Amino acid sequence: MHNIMRSVTLPNIANLPTVLRTGRQLADAGLIADDAAKVTDLIGKRYSVAIPNQLATLINPADPKDPIAQQFIPNADELFALDDEHEDPIGDDVRSPLRGLVHRYPDRVLLMPTLSCPVYCRYCFRREKVGRDAASPSAADMENAIDYIGNHSEIREVILTGGDPLSLSDNRLGALLRELDEIPHLSNLRIHTRVPVALPSRITSKLIDNLQVNLPIWTLLHVNHARELTNDVANACAQLNQGGIPLLSQSVLLRGVNDNAKTLSELFRRLVELKVKPYYLHHPDRARGTSRFRLTIREGLNLVYSLRGRISGLCQPTYVVDIPGGFGKVPISGIRKTHDGKNWLLTDFEGRQHIYQED
Ligand code: SF4
Repeated sequence: MHNIMRSVTLPNIANLPTVLRTGRQLADAGLIADDAAKVTDLIGKRYSVAIPNQLATLINPADPKDPIAQQFIPNADELFALDDEHEDPIGDDVRSPLRGLVHRYPDRVLLMPTLSCPVYCRYCFRREKVGRDAASPSAADMENAIDYIGNHSEIREVILTGGDPLSLSDNRLGALLRELDEIPHLSNLRIHTRVPVALPSRITSKLIDNLQVNLPIWTLLHVNHARELTNDVANACAQLNQGGIPLLSQSVLLRGVNDNAKTLSELFRRLVELKVKPYYLHHPDRARGTSRFRLTIREGLNLVYSLRGRISGLCQPTYVVDIPGGFGKVPISGIRKTHDGKNWLLTDFEGRQHIYQED
């Protein structure tokens, strides 16, 4: 497919809205060619598009391989799905007893109070749902989900995800956290977010105040390239850390973005400098229209092995893959090939084996 970026020097965001959403806006910013605006809007009808202009300024439009652009600028390839790509690649739906809640592992649940994100990543594994009003859980869905958590004493951890939970207003987020704080069998909360990276100005003292509940809250920051970690992002991380909210990170291993040892080393080292512990490196999921980002597991393993000894253990996340179909994550370092050597054998947390084919 043709690449829809064009060569100009700097994004021109003056006089544009604070969040770029349409082909016309991206073209006016110099991030895509004028004649790519139509196909960009076609992609936007299918998969949400939003790039805060703060983040857009990190893109070098003169570089057709810019790693920030690859993550956020729509690409015509998204309109083509392969046979092994799925609408729900990690099987959220089969593990969802209620709208807005996923119960995959006994002691923890995912709670999705919103499906809005500050930016829409082109490789997103929930790309069929995020930013789509029809899929968003309602206030009643959240009440039902909180009742469910209250009625299941085996649940110890609630992971707020979505969408991006920090897209909620301070008041809504604070009210939700306080309701969860009342549930006696919970021992901690987690917030999965891209906000400190995509919209660092959202991290305010009012937000930090609303995160002050009795349950410990851990934040998992989604970031894939050291260039995303600007001074503003560093300040946002410092505010969270100083507010008593420890930070871990999760990154996705993406072809064309961070698929080399140098880029990964820079990312993980910078995170540790910012007091963010690299936690997960995800093998890319098989979401529809995302094949351009995928590496093979062998390629990913070779990269991760090459980091050993090169960077401190503190800088090394666990490389994991989600078993398609809803069976959870597996650390890739422990997996092996099937007897015929053609596929990978993944063992889920309940001991069931799954074959993972790559072609
Ligand atoms: S921030 Fe997360 S949920 Fe939102 S589009 Fe990016 S990967 Fe998907």
